[in-house]
Amino acid sequence: MPIYEYRVREGTAGCDYCSRPFEVMQRISDPPVATCPKCGAPVARLISRISIGYSKTGFDRRAKEAGFTKLQRIGKGEYEKKY
Ligand SMILES: [Zn+2]
Repeated sequence: MPIYEYRVREGTAGCDYCSRPFEVMQRISDPPVATCPKCGAPVARLISRISIGYSKTGFDRRAKEAGFTKLQRIGKGEYEKKY
């Protein structure tokens, strides 16, 4: 389930909870959270910081694995040249 980050709308005085980004786990089909669950101030979703959970770490891991495989292949090639 994706985790969305929300924060109080700019120009609105929020509480300690919503004046900093807070995470809400929601189904994609769920309506966006409109108000702070603590104080009721209007909040906005921080679209640029959506986390699908596995996406970033999964990508980093795949990139590392690809790099590792490439290095291994180069190493093997150099080894074979010597003989
Ligand atoms: Zn609040």
